[in-house]
Formats: sequence, structure tokens, C-alpha cells
Amino acid sequence: MGCRRPAPRSVLARFVLAEVEGGPQVVPDPGARLPGRGAWLHRDPGCAGLAVRRKAFARALRATGPVGTDLVTATARTWAVEQVRTEHDDKGRPRPAPRDRKRVDE
Ligand SMILES: [Zn+2]
Repeated sequence: MGCRRPAPRSVLARFVLAEVEGGPQVVPDPGARLPGRGAWLHRDPGCAGLAVRRKAFARALRATGPVGTDLVTATARTWAVEQVRTEHDDKGRPRPAPRDRKRVDE
């Protein structure tokens, strides 16, 4: 929905439309259990940003008007944190990039 690349569901996050105070909001559905039409997105902040900018949620969720995407942005921010973590080891040191694993002495 963001970058439109197909992917297995395990790497995607589901969002649904919810009627809340102030109008319809796109809300995360981490368990993928909420009823209704769902919109799937890579767990990737870039992908989420694209979908928000393209107003892809309103289309994908068949909304009749504009929908709030604040929770999408907030959720994507947590994905950004997760991604940083996976690039660091337990002690917070950056993991070497794959091509740097072999040590070279100057
Ligand atoms: Zn994507």
C-alpha cells in the first residue's frame, strides 16, 4: 500500500478504519483480528510515510472522506526504533555491516 511491493503477511502490519471522536481514524490492528476491510503495510517507516502522503488509506479502506492517520505515523515511529535496535547488539554497539565483518589491518 505504501511502496506497493508484495510481501508475506508476517512482515506486514494491518490497519483498519475506526469511528472515533472527531471522525474516522486509521488504527493499527496488531493481532489482525479486527473486523472490516484492512489495509496492509510493510513494517517500515518509509512505507508508512508514503502511504500517508499518497492518502492511500482512505482509498484502501473505502472511506467516503478524509481519514485521520496520526496513529499510523505514531506506529511507524515505533518501527523506526525497532529497526535501529536490530542494527545494534545487546550492548548498544553498532553491528558491523556484512561487508565489514572481515577485519582488515591498515
Ligand atoms: Zn512497502
